[in-house]
Amino acid sequence: MLEVTFDEYDARRRDEADPGHRDLFHIPPGTAYFAGNSLGLQPKATVPELLADLGDWARLGVEGHLEAGRPWLPYHELLTERAARLVGALPSEAVVMNSLTVNLHLLMVSFYRPAGARDQILIEDTAFPSDSYAVRSQARFHGLDPDTTVVRLTRTEDMLAYLREHGERVALVLLGGVNYLTGELMDIPTVTRAGQAAGAVVGWDLAHAAGNVPLRLHDWGVDFAAWCSYKYLNGGPGALAGAFVHERHLADGALPRFEGWWSTDPATRFEMAPVARPPATVDAWQVSNPPIFAMGPVRTSLEIFDRVGMDALRARSLRLTGYLRELLDEVTPGRPLEVVTPREPERHGCQLSVRIGDGAAGDISRRLRHEHGVIADAREPDIVRFAPVPLYSTYHDCWRAARALAATVKEV
Ligand SMILES: *Cc1c(COP(=O)(O)O)cnc(C)c1O
Repeated sequence: MLEVTFDEYDARRRDEADPGHRDLFHIPPGTAYFAGNSLGLQPKATVPELLADLGDWARLGVEGHLEAGRPWLPYHELLTERAARLVGALPSEAVVMNSLTVNLHLLMVSFYRPAGARDQILIEDTAFPSDSYAVRSQARFHGLDPDTTVVRLTRTEDMLAYLREHGERVALVLLGGVNYLTGELMDIPTVTRAGQAAGAVVGWDLAHAAGNVPLRLHDWGVDFAAWCSYKYLNGGPGALAGAFVHERHLADGALPRFEGWWSTDPATRFEMAPVARPPATVDAWQVSNPPIFAMGPVRTSLEIFDRVGMDALRARSLRLTGYLRELLDEVTPGRPLEVVTPREPERHGCQLSVRIGDGAAGDISRRLRHEHGVIADAREPDIVRFAPVPLYSTYHDCWRAARALAATVKEV
């Protein structure tokens, strides 16, 4: 390991100058945690605030709907403005509900409407499997063959070319804002405009983008989007997800939706009328009454994002990930390692994905964990993902990761 000479003292000095908000989080003891892109860490405020909500249930029973410290009936509204700010939406355009893939399905009910020759769904070839399965099952639901209906392309240039040449076939473009595997941040406004210019609807899966990079969904004219809250948003395993529908679609009563009693205007909900009267907000996409004790941790976490602000987080993120990249630039030469995440700041979030030349990513990530306390996950066969999270990761974590990788993957 002598060949890696970079300086621990320098990492410590950077941490003093640029400390982030680590004190707000529980950090798994002894670890350098790089898996916040898979499961974010728990804010220290989560338990006390959740206990307060639980205490209201014990104390008030059903009366908690109106009388709890944070009343349950309008509880989801406590999350709306913060979720909206996080993704650059109007409050009427954002809602926290369900889980991510469920939201994608509910949104595709409205926004994937194959008609005649325009029936294709364009996704990225490295799409997360859940998204692949979701779009294929939507195609089948419409009586279409998923093998010909779902078009998978890798590079943005190829997607733009496909939209120019075969755009009249494309009903829906559904892409990851930040790719889960490569860490590439897409040019969301450009691809959105190109898809819409071709006559398609454009939706984004922001699982790896929300809380990672600044978003301007309203200004970019995105048709719809969904994201989860357990990765960068630190809402806890399986936490409730978010959904966005652009304002221009909200007044359109013609869009089909799946409805339940939470789709109706809250002012008339308890009239128990047989026909829903949906509000002109994305709340109309809600179906069931929301799980309060699952919303609590998301609310706690969104408050942190609101206090710190995405612009400040992004600035620290570029410094922290930039530092990890510098260290990896020292480690990769002479080793079967390659950072596959694009280098340009506007093309990545906090994650760096390292390709292991001879595969065995799972074995490498186990050794990083057990021999060095570095938690980075493997996507078999050959990718190990490192996500320095600007809220709680440190420069010293990055130093540990680079040093551990150098010790684990031998020079050739
Ligand atoms: C994490 C992730 C999912 C997970 O879907 P759930 O419905 O939350 O289980 C889906 N899509 C992408 C792109 C993801 O990164």
